[in-house]
Amino acid sequence: MEITGGCLCRAVRYRVSTPPLATRVCWCRLCQYLGAGSGTVNTCFPTEAVSVEGELRDYASIADSGNVMHRRFCPTCGTHVFSEAEARPHLIFVRAGTLDDPEVAQPAATIWTSQAPSWACINTAWPAVAGQPPPVS
Ligand SMILES: [Zn+2]
Ligand SMILES: [Zn+2]
Repeated sequence: MEITGGCLCRAVRYRVSTPPLATRVCWCRLCQYLGAGSGTVNTCFPTEAVSVEGELRDYASIADSGNVMHRRFCPTCGTHVFSEAEARPHLIFVRAGTLDDPEVAQPAATIWTSQAPSWACINTAWPAVAGQPPPVS
């Protein structure tokens, strides 16, 4: 199977050769910046399965979990495409909005609900974790 996606202006394109390991909705405070006030949906793949074409810029910051996170985005259209934790370089998180087929992302949990605003719409059909969940693998 092949999963494809990219940024809004199509300067950045990626292909993934394996199914997702996991998808989660994240309501951490930082994701609210990236998600225009909402949480973000992030689909995790093995880093080695993802190939990227096009230029990305990197913004590094320390997450509430204490991890140094790298968030990579298209410098032309500003779309955030990937995030990676320095501590777990074998995993890459794809911003699910960049998938050509959004159905590929099937969220299984909501994380960082402790940081969500009172009006956040959180799907009670999935487990919710107040903070950082255990690593995917
Ligand atoms: Zn772009
Ligand atoms: Zn987050």
